[in-house]
Amino acid sequence: MNRYQADERGYYGEFGGAFIPEMLYPNTEELRQNYLRIMGEPDFQEEFRQLLRDYVGRPTPLYFAKRLSEKFKARIYLKREDLCHTGAHKVNNTIGQILMAKKLGKSRIIAETGAGQHGVATATVCALMGMECIVYMGEVDIARQAPNVARMKMLGAEVRPARSGSRTLKDATNEAIRDWINNPVNTHYIIGSVVGPHPYPDMVARFQAVISEEIKWQLKEKEGKEDPDYVVACVGGGSNAAGTYYHYLDNEQVGIIAVEAAGKGVDSGESAATSALGKVGIIHGSKTLLMQTGDGQITEPYSISAGLDYPGVGPMHAHLYKSGRADFIAITDDEAMAAGLMVSQLEGIIPAIETSHAFAIFDHRTFKPDDIIVINLSGRGDKDLQTYIDYFKL
Ligand SMILES: *Cc1c(COP(=O)(O)O)cnc(C)c1O
Repeated sequence: MNRYQADERGYYGEFGGAFIPEMLYPNTEELRQNYLRIMGEPDFQEEFRQLLRDYVGRPTPLYFAKRLSEKFKARIYLKREDLCHTGAHKVNNTIGQILMAKKLGKSRIIAETGAGQHGVATATVCALMGMECIVYMGEVDIARQAPNVARMKMLGAEVRPARSGSRTLKDATNEAIRDWINNPVNTHYIIGSVVGPHPYPDMVARFQAVISEEIKWQLKEKEGKEDPDYVVACVGGGSNAAGTYYHYLDNEQVGIIAVEAAGKGVDSGESAATSALGKVGIIHGSKTLLMQTGDGQITEPYSISAGLDYPGVGPMHAHLYKSGRADFIAITDDEAMAAGLMVSQLEGIIPAIETSHAFAIFDHRTFKPDDIIVINLSGRGDKDLQTYIDYFKL
């Protein structure tokens, strides 16, 4: 029984669906009618698997973190998505989607990006496939994220500034949607997380599901069983979390822990803790939980981590929250930064600040000594070095 997967119309419980302007309907409809068939074709799977292996570097290790385990008195494993090419899980999805675009006969790729990580992952696979790549990015974000803008340009992408509104992610998204409406035949829009109208959340979750597919056989090798007691991941839009949970969703013996960014505190007015603060609404074509004012205007999220700084959450996660299947924990900037430093010094791994949030759960939950906990190490911290330097005065 698939209680936590999307149904045919892209609903997870009451969340999901496709709330889009009529002019976008042909685009999403073409994708909806074809994505499962294409993903099921042997030659698609063969090319996807081959690129994940030879280009991304999969399978990523499942690493038993000995010193962390000793400190917190549980058996803690790290799924090393930080070792993927480009330094995070995002490339699993962009590889899948560019192969999908090719199958659909598209020659041009568009994407939107906030912090620039998804833009870089998209520009990377466009270079790999020799496809035209246009990345929409808010003018404010372009100024804040100069290294990622440079990476995209070096990879051959065109970065187009969004100059309207707050000149951040939501404005870039609006520009990308406008582009897609104007170029329905030759263009595929690569969305970077389990958000957006159906079929995106389901399609992206299926591409990222390789994470939990690997955890199962790797844990079997190491512990003699496929199922941990808990799987843990940070949630921005929710794609690394969806991939980590995917093959465990309907196995209630496996606890699911979702970690959100509380920013300066859930009630501080500067937060991105969507489950705690969100109300039901529509964002990016999907019905989900999102942070909004009384009259439904989306409120600007805040987190020290650029990748968790999103005002909504994917519909799968809204449903996991509402149904009680997942335990949501909100972690502040200070807690995340301290946890990032701790993991660096206990394990010799500097995590992305997004991921650091997931390591702060041990101050909020206690575990039994024989509990097996798999934490998805979604990305490496190199991109965040300046933030760590400023915060710790290194
Ligand atoms: C983008 C990013 C995230 C947040 O995105 P999800 O879709 O929630 O996974 C988390 N960790 C890292 C390292 C990222 O780059």
